[in-house]
Amino acid sequence: MTEDGRLKVLVVGAHPSDPFANVGGTIAKHVNRGDEVILVTLTYGVEVHTEYLIGKSESEIKRTVHEKAMEAAAILGVVDYRFLDFGDTPLVATRDNLIQLGEVIQDVQPNIVISSHVPLRETGLGGDHGEAGRMVEKAPSWRQHFGRKSHRPKAIYFSITDIATVNHPIYRIPDTFVDITDTIDQKIDACMTSWNLPLEDLPRIDNVFRGMGGEHGRSVGVKYAEPFESPWLHRRAVEHLE
Ligand SMILES: [Zn+2]
Repeated sequence: MTEDGRLKVLVVGAHPSDPFANVGGTIAKHVNRGDEVILVTLTYGVEVHTEYLIGKSESEIKRTVHEKAMEAAAILGVVDYRFLDFGDTPLVATRDNLIQLGEVIQDVQPNIVISSHVPLRETGLGGDHGEAGRMVEKAPSWRQHFGRKSHRPKAIYFSITDIATVNHPIYRIPDTFVDITDTIDQKIDACMTSWNLPLEDLPRIDNVFRGMGGEHGRSVGVKYAEPFESPWLHRRAVEHLE
């Protein structure tokens, strides 16, 4: 945390639209409190979430996805969105990929990292989303290499809101909830933009996110919430619980 209490927050997603769909409301909350939020996607998500681009060339898909993701980020007040190009479906945690992700963490030096995905440690399921969650855990940001400053974030928070894992037992264990009642409109707007959906799809998308956000919100007594698994990787001493 900086002297004035502002945080530097790094948000990691498997595909460019994932941060918006899974933790978009939380991103806007951090921006609104004056935190510096940086997004990074591990892939261009060429193979998924891109139905509207079927038949286009790979370079055209990447260009459009990048443009839409930057527009969506701006809706949440984020200007720094970094694209890694590990290749999706499958995303694979090679040594090189883990080192590259670790170097992003070293470059950004975030106080906290938000993973848009839960790692699904027990089963290895979850496709690119589970792999991305596992990569956030494994990325060696503590390397001392070529003069880069090593860095360990204070905390990694894992998002549980993954539509694909709604039937997995892990969906039931979130223990930290961010109240997104005042940012859910921005989240929905960012999702519509990043997926490049026509306006006629708004009622359906609105319904999905208000349904999920409302379900999580009800469990903690607010209107809409995004759920997280709080950090367990590092033991730490605190003055009080926060
Ligand atoms: Zn995705």
